[in-house]
Amino acid sequence: MTAVSSQQLAELKALAGPGAHVEDPAELAASLTEWRGLFRGAAPLLLMPDSTAAVSAILAYCHQQRIAVVPQGGNTGLVGGAIPHSTAERSEILLSARRLNRIRHLDAANYSITAEAGCVLATLQAAAADAGRLFPLSLAAEGSCQLGGNLSTNAGGTAVLRFGTTRELVLGLEVVLPDGRVLDSLRSLRKDNTGYDLKQLFIGAEGTLGFITAASCKLFPQPRQTATAWLAVPDVAAALRLYSAARDSLGDELTAFEFANRCSLAFVIKHIPGSRAPLAADSPWQVLLEVSTARESADTGADLERFLADMLEQGTVTDGMVAASGAQRDALWRLRHSMSEAQKIEGASIKHDISVPVSKVGEFVVRASAWAEAAVPGVRVVAFGHLGDGNVHFNLSQPVGADRSAFLARWDEIAAQIHQIAVDFGGSFSAEHGIGSLKVAELERWRGGTTLELMRAIKAVLDPHGIMNPGKLLRAR
Ligand code: FAD
Ligand code: ZN
Repeated sequence: MTAVSSQQLAELKALAGPGAHVEDPAELAASLTEWRGLFRGAAPLLLMPDSTAAVSAILAYCHQQRIAVVPQGGNTGLVGGAIPHSTAERSEILLSARRLNRIRHLDAANYSITAEAGCVLATLQAAAADAGRLFPLSLAAEGSCQLGGNLSTNAGGTAVLRFGTTRELVLGLEVVLPDGRVLDSLRSLRKDNTGYDLKQLFIGAEGTLGFITAASCKLFPQPRQTATAWLAVPDVAAALRLYSAARDSLGDELTAFEFANRCSLAFVIKHIPGSRAPLAADSPWQVLLEVSTARESADTGADLERFLADMLEQGTVTDGMVAASGAQRDALWRLRHSMSEAQKIEGASIKHDISVPVSKVGEFVVRASAWAEAAVPGVRVVAFGHLGDGNVHFNLSQPVGADRSAFLARWDEIAAQIHQIAVDFGGSFSAEHGIGSLKVAELERWRGGTTLELMRAIKAVLDPHGIMNPGKLLRAR
């Protein structure tokens, strides 16, 4: 691959269509860095075609001319996956889905929605709600992230416990391959056993195998009742007992089970205007638990109150409150969703997005915290996440007054150890945010041998010239 010439840039702009590109450096700037500011890149051009045919023409041209392409959605990814890295010798152009943002079809009777990749997640949720349906994918970045980014990262979020990750919500996909061919598997079928399920390859592929242009996703009944509680527990072991009892007692209506340590909440209260601690006393660990149902005859609030009374009596829960209104529920979720933002304001942080079997979360947190506190005196453990999925955002905030870059310089050393602890418990070093640029070496370390060989073989078949998102997920060759 080479640097793009001005003639090639002109061809690309023409293929994207009128008004479908950005090349002004000031306008491009927001697309060249990501939310945490960890990655900064460069690109001569961003294209924003508004049709699958235009994406196909652009990729066919890039394939032929050996021009590298970096797909970008809402740019809310946290691992540098959507950031282009052009150099003097080799350009990478950005391909954005932002104008591919139509909802093509909502079939309420089929409980499905077919939408283009650039639809913002919150827009899809709202469209489903308007039709009396639920699109369950939900995460703090939902006001900006796009369906194509969600699919490409196989996003998790706060509803995985009940509805699964993005992968489990997909019925069909439309993808433009790196050579411009269109793979049309945009069917809305629950059953379709017709050989290899090719669409699965592109879900979680982080833009390295093709550009997703549209998807058909499952919808669910809109909940009629929702009950949400904020609870104090003495330790993670108690949170795990609570989780087990909640699944047992509340069954499939348990929709979310999030947890957070003291520091995670304290940073939110300190930095996010308008936030207030839900409980009077401070607690080492808190749980945000939600129950919801579409059943007409249910009394979710009463079921939850009864369950919590039992848990308080047993001492599993030491304090708690149930949201009395929609506004109170929103305020509780805002606390949970603000944890990453608040931690950012508090200073530099080294982040780990690990998963372990749910039963091992407590032991993981104890061992990882002890190691981190010994290795970095004064470090502040900010641990929160989706306990019901065994997914801990095990983050470390720099010691107060410490030098930001000296702390961040220890990222690889610290991450290697935390990931080792997760793997010791049968876990993964990358639960929901993906590999991007950040964890390419970790992928090689933990998924070597046949797994990596097969990944490289698939990449070589679909993208023989290595033009799609080079260096992300797999090292560029
Ligand atoms: P981008 O960041 O633009 O891209 C992500 C990757 O997908 C890149 O590799 C990019 O090249 C590729 N890509 C994007 N669009 C396409 C396309 N159309 N075709 C092919 N490849 C494409 N993630 C979770 O899983 N769970 C969470 O709970 C969660 N919480 C978050 C909270 C905050 C505050 C923030 C900032 C992020 C959070 N994330 C979370 C991470 C992020 O929101 C998700 O990874 C999201 O799915 C990314 O979507 P995006 O549209 O922003 O994608
Ligand atoms: Zn998360």
